[in-house]
Amino acid sequence: MQAQSNPQAPFAQAVLAWYAKYGRKTLPWQQNKTLYGVWLSEVMLQQTQVATVIPYFERFIKTFPNITALADAPLDEVLHLWTGLGYYARARNLHKAAQNVRDLHDGEFPTGFQQVLALPGVGQSTAGAILSSCLNAPYPILDGNVKRVLSRYFAVSGWAGEMSTERKLWAFSAQVTPQDQVADFNQAMMDMGSMVCTRTKPKCDLCPLNADCQANLQQNQTAYPNKKPKKTLPQRESFFVILAEQGKVLLEQREPSGIWGGLYCFPQFERKADALAYLRAQGVSVYQEWVSFRHTFSHFHLDIYPIYAELNREQDDVDRTDWKKVQENHAEYQSSVSSAVKYWYDPENPDSIGLATPVKNLLIEFQKRK
Ligand code: SF4
Repeated sequence: MQAQSNPQAPFAQAVLAWYAKYGRKTLPWQQNKTLYGVWLSEVMLQQTQVATVIPYFERFIKTFPNITALADAPLDEVLHLWTGLGYYARARNLHKAAQNVRDLHDGEFPTGFQQVLALPGVGQSTAGAILSSCLNAPYPILDGNVKRVLSRYFAVSGWAGEMSTERKLWAFSAQVTPQDQVADFNQAMMDMGSMVCTRTKPKCDLCPLNADCQANLQQNQTAYPNKKPKKTLPQRESFFVILAEQGKVLLEQREPSGIWGGLYCFPQFERKADALAYLRAQGVSVYQEWVSFRHTFSHFHLDIYPIYAELNREQDDVDRTDWKKVQENHAEYQSSVSSAVKYWYDPENPDSIGLATPVKNLLIEFQKRK
């Protein structure tokens, strides 16, 4: 889909004039722009706000100054730098895409829309954002911020996640995006969405589109875009076994895909009995339960129950006040991490590996309690 408007059309003109005065022009990826840097920023900005992304972006660019450096790096190092940013499939796709560019495009980031779109983790909006931002190529975009502005301006009803609504919004985006000055226009639309047309309290008085915006004219701004139909998230529970030995902690690498794919986690069990059986099999006879907590993913809540134990420690030396005895005779057990890679992690001298956020927090707790 290509941009269809021109910079003198009222919508584009208003947006470009606003950008000249108020738009963001000093973000790290806007300086000495490269396709690599803009791609990296666009992937990081999917689901994450600018302020959070900036330090991650800076660390990435410093560690991997070009796409070949990223492609050649071990995935563990990429996941390590991504730790805390969430949605780890983005990091895995980033790494895979860098390898595709190295192997299929001689290490040069492609400039054709279909080639960019073919990279893992790049959708239509991200491809348009990269090429318009770096090359002023006439592609519209439709990220969450732009969806909000357009839904309100054109009073588009329907949830933006529905195909039919998304198709309408794409058509509106193409209709208002100018064929020239696309880089500034697209940046302006993203900035307006995050700075002016905000989710709960849009600052319509400051908006260059207020005279013709349907939602503003109806004084019904927050009705658009329609909310995602509410679903109660299912709850699951998991018992994390924090098994320590001489200051190190046992971690297992998860399978490459799915939740926390490729990251290192504690041995994990769905049932407490299995976690205790596992300890028994390691020759551990006492354990300690730490306070449980909830980690919420986009599609379920995970209630985490940490169980701490020490290996090869003289059990009689242990202060037993809050320690419990591992029961005998548990049958089968299997860590749900189901990976062959076991690793004794030393929090004093941490290696560059990716850690799921709850694991990272529990390792901090482990250090505090030592
Ligand atoms: S007038 Fe208000 S609701 Fe309409 S686009 Fe501008 S900020 Fe958003």
